[in-house]
Amino acid sequence: MKSIVTGGAGFLGSHLCDLLLENKHEVICIDNLVTGDTRNIDHIKSDKFTYLNHDITNPIYFGDKIDYIFHLASPASPIDYLDLPIQTLKVGALGTYNMLGLAIKQEARFLLASTSEVYGDPLVNPQPETYWGNVNPIGPRGVYDEAKRYAEAITMAYHRAHGIDTRIVRIFNTYGPRMRAGDGRVVPNFINQALKGEDITVYGDGDQTRSFCYVSDLIDGIYRLMMSDFVEPVNLGNPDEMSVLEFAKKVIEITNSSSKIVFEELPVDDPKVRRPDISRAMDVLGWEPKVGLGEGLGKTVEYFNSTL
Ligand code: UDP
Repeated sequence: MKSIVTGGAGFLGSHLCDLLLENKHEVICIDNLVTGDTRNIDHIKSDKFTYLNHDITNPIYFGDKIDYIFHLASPASPIDYLDLPIQTLKVGALGTYNMLGLAIKQEARFLLASTSEVYGDPLVNPQPETYWGNVNPIGPRGVYDEAKRYAEAITMAYHRAHGIDTRIVRIFNTYGPRMRAGDGRVVPNFINQALKGEDITVYGDGDQTRSFCYVSDLIDGIYRLMMSDFVEPVNLGNPDEMSVLEFAKKVIEITNSSSKIVFEELPVDDPKVRRPDISRAMDVLGWEPKVGLGEGLGKTVEYFNSTL
């Protein structure tokens, strides 16, 4: 079996490459390193692994048969996609279009990494896949939310019009080793602030909620979804919901830090709640997260400690 992972040198992509190699796939990792980093794949020594530095908004062709395309490439942290608005829209639109074209040509199965951001600032909590969302298309987050909504639309169109085999995973907040320390997301921010004894920056009053999934659970779910026969979108995430303020206190406790909590301005359109309804993943994939927050944060703190 030969698999392509776009965004394979990123946080989730590199963990997916590891799992695919464990499961005896040959892996072609494609990344243009806009937000990815070859340090995430440096440990891979297998001769079944190839890395290509390529921007998938330009087409790419392969002579050999490809069986699976895992399309993960995109800036994914709010700071990154605010910094890279055009690249984010282009990879969601042109990148997805090019990868779907490749899937037709190769008769490969195609999986789109979508996001809980398709639900925007949700008016329903938890969010089931049947919820259509509440997205501001012209706000600063719109570049990511709408890119992923378009990517879902074109994926379903290619499935319906060309009969290609497609999967859509909606990924909720996920954390773990190989997140970039400076990617601006709440997990790396709080852990690095706590480890350095700096102030912990809670945005707004910290009442907004998130639910955090450990990376190994998420990657296991993605693999199961690709190997299933289920075409509709599937939420993957950990339904253990907490406020950002509670999360800040948890990080301080786990790191035994002397850091103080400070409050800063809430970013525009920051979702007030987020929690996956994972009934579909449980039914269709027999999947649910296994790693609790204490264990997952422990491993993530150890990772960031080793990178300081
Ligand atoms: N957040 C925060 N302090 C930070 C970084 C993020 O309070 O230093 C908040 C952010 O406003 C949001 C939540 O934490 O409510 C999760 O933010 P993140 O950037 O991780 O991703 P999001 O879930 O918004 O996509």
